[in-house]
Amino acid sequence: MRVFCAGLFTESNGLVARPTTRADFDDGFLWRRGAPLPARSIGATMSAPVSCWVDACQARGWVVHRGLTAFAMPGGPVLQADYEALRDELLADLVAAGPVDFVLLALHGSMRAQGYADVEGDLLGRVRAHVGPHTPIGVEMDPHCNVSQAVLGHATVLVTYKEWPHTDIRERALDVLQLTAEAASGATRPTLSTFDCRIVGTFPTKREPMKSFVGRMSALEGRDGVLSVSLLSGYPWGDVAEQTVRVLVITNDAPELGARLADTLGRELWALRARITDVPAFDIDGACDYLDRAPPGLIVFADPADNLLCGCPGDSTYVLARVLERGLQRVAFGPIYDPMAVQAAARVGERARLTLRIGGKCEPLSGVPVDVPVTVRRVLDNPVQHLTEFADAPSELGAAVWVEAPGEIDILLTSNRVPTVSPNVFEPFGLKIAEKRAAFCKMWQHGAAGFANIAVETHVIAAPGAGSLDYASLPYRAFQAPFWPKFADLSLDPP
Ligand SMILES: [Zn+2]
Repeated sequence: MRVFCAGLFTESNGLVARPTTRADFDDGFLWRRGAPLPARSIGATMSAPVSCWVDACQARGWVVHRGLTAFAMPGGPVLQADYEALRDELLADLVAAGPVDFVLLALHGSMRAQGYADVEGDLLGRVRAHVGPHTPIGVEMDPHCNVSQAVLGHATVLVTYKEWPHTDIRERALDVLQLTAEAASGATRPTLSTFDCRIVGTFPTKREPMKSFVGRMSALEGRDGVLSVSLLSGYPWGDVAEQTVRVLVITNDAPELGARLADTLGRELWALRARITDVPAFDIDGACDYLDRAPPGLIVFADPADNLLCGCPGDSTYVLARVLERGLQRVAFGPIYDPMAVQAAARVGERARLTLRIGGKCEPLSGVPVDVPVTVRRVLDNPVQHLTEFADAPSELGAAVWVEAPGEIDILLTSNRVPTVSPNVFEPFGLKIAEKRAAFCKMWQHGAAGFANIAVETHVIAAPGAGSLDYASLPYRAFQAPFWPKFADLSLDPP
């Protein structure tokens, strides 16, 4: 077999104004034909399918051509020229590979660019035009994908990770390889069927009932003509025409079976909609109040509305401002992205005092900056965060400082936009997080999993921001389809 594989991957928050650029791909993970592989990072984890495919194809003795592999930390839609340059480079790599038996692509599924609401549809259309109608194209996506009809039309095989936190990226990559290779050999004829659940939400899979639903999807695969079952769970902040949850079933040339099964699974999810979309969360004052009655030890609050892995800026100030107003004591804030504040604190140096203007600089949705009298406790050149099961490679924080406000309020500020995924982000500063009463971090599933080992409890705060969980109130422009929970009396069946 001759195989071409490549990856182009970022998650684009349509509510965020600041564009993602080529520099963000340089910072994330960018492999170009002929170059050595970049150092490991979160980008390496997210682009792992490509390396996985190369290794697996070589192990089978197949000829494999690796093309452009690029990842940027989620953010606003990509600059048009930067997307087109990356896309054209990937396509040039495909052309240079010569004739292939199949193509494998690692895509996010919610990438947007200026002028392109459906990046994956555009890219797959061009790949399809080059390889022709009969060469299988296998695609692995993040489940937080907003998949268009164009994508479904061009892909031969589409598989998403089943788990969130995303712990099965490599396993699903091997599924894609297997299914696409079987199609290329003529053993199967994959047929894609979907069912639109008309739900907008997020679905952590470590808890019920999603945990069992994931098990059910896996159990259906590989028997009775069902090749694969995926949940296209959607990305609520993409703001594109199609971003509701869908069930995808791939059968071996049995579209009626696929449609029936997708319908059955989709209606199961619909019946569970209130439970699977329920995110127990405090509002900001509720979180502050809870500390008065919470058990002793470290209580960790995740702020998903400014989660960098969700494209949020990482410098929102809603929680910080309220915690300072409320006069909370002995609490820590995980990294806030603010290169300007880092520079100001580093210039005055350790043990010096200043009033520092923190956060609120990236976006209107970041809120307003907060002026905080602080003592500079630590200035570091480029500390690293050692990551978790999700990404087992260090990420660099850039120049970074630990500042302390009255009341033992510790705040980390970084000049790199790095998501918080582990409590060891505090370690290089010498900040003993386990001794604090509470920590507030800009993260969600991946970070919360990392903190579970050292915190007495972890909770979610429903704050304002570009990753707000109040989907019914998000300022969508392109996404206009009725969805649950915005329309409480919505039905799955046409009237
Ligand atoms: Zn995801």
